[in-house]
Amino acid sequence: MRVFNFSAGPATLPEAVLEEARQSLLSYGSSGRSVMELSHRSPEYDEIHRHGIDRLRRLLAVPENFEILLLQGGASLQFAMVPANLMHGSGRADYVLTGTWSRKAAAEARKVGEVRIAGSGEGDDFRRIPRPQELDFDASADFVHLTSNNTICGTQWRDLPETASVPAVVDMSSDILSRPIPWERVGLAYAGAQKNLGPAGVTLVIVRRDLMAGAPDDLPAMLDYRVHAAKGSLYNTPPTWSIYMLGLACRWVEEQGGLAAMEAASLQRSRALYEAIDRLPAFRGTAEVDSRSRMNVTFRLATEELEAEFLRRAGERRMTNLKGHRSVGGIRASLYNALPMAAVEALIELMEEFARESG
Ligand SMILES: *Cc1c(COP(=O)(O)O)cnc(C)c1O
Repeated sequence: MRVFNFSAGPATLPEAVLEEARQSLLSYGSSGRSVMELSHRSPEYDEIHRHGIDRLRRLLAVPENFEILLLQGGASLQFAMVPANLMHGSGRADYVLTGTWSRKAAAEARKVGEVRIAGSGEGDDFRRIPRPQELDFDASADFVHLTSNNTICGTQWRDLPETASVPAVVDMSSDILSRPIPWERVGLAYAGAQKNLGPAGVTLVIVRRDLMAGAPDDLPAMLDYRVHAAKGSLYNTPPTWSIYMLGLACRWVEEQGGLAAMEAASLQRSRALYEAIDRLPAFRGTAEVDSRSRMNVTFRLATEELEAEFLRRAGERRMTNLKGHRSVGGIRASLYNALPMAAVEALIELMEEFARESG
């Protein structure tokens, strides 16, 4: 029997996707070969690859002047690839610090050019997203880097800020495919697949073509967006299994009703859980209300002992991976697209019981 898996990533996948993948593990269609045994130059794989990219373009309403790339190296490699490719106009970029991941992204950009901090939630331990009046963008920066959802501290931009004429580069690892993307403000979006898209091993990069054109010619080929774009993300052997799984997960999203259905379900899950946190005095949300994430809900109990007991009881009921990130502690429930509402209901039921017992 499967558990309710609240993992922050690699995260739960739709059961129907896993069922189908189980078949293809041994033989893909009538090919007599596992998906993993298909040549990445075969017609069968070519179809998997193209359909996956087409589905992403439809689901995310990606405009024609953006390239969709399927790469490796995780979001962490994008921390380095983004400045390597994009930081060559003024050589300056603005970073808004909203958590651990944006800090890591800024550290990589400092190796390439001049990084300005255009806003920061560090003073508040990243419990809130900076307000518009606390942001100060440099009009001559090559880009503004944002992290749309902060997986560890449980905060999320409600709307991406206005960055005037400067393109936003957005790490969407933990909330992509949960709400529409404002492409008129975004120049590049990237996301490791293992949170809200599919399995680990593939990284999605969506980049406006004119932005990648300014990359220096001495970039190593594997780090050059133009090389991957020119080859349709088949410059070298792609992570074929991960891309196959990503395609199945995207098809599942389409069957559920697409992005609008994902957004509605995400609102339903997160509203129910925050309502319980606010109603039950035994629990306390850690993010400021206006900055709360729909994807990663972080909260605490009165003591660490109670938190340990809560996690133990959750485990008894087949609810797993609710422990907060080791850097912040507490409880974290990750409510990604494939998490059924029944999981949230089971969690709330346990919270209510716990609250009753602890008075
Ligand atoms: C998980 C995560 C990362 C790191 O992703 P990797 O794929 O492990 O490199 C970066 N940014 C955010 C917002 C994340 O949630």
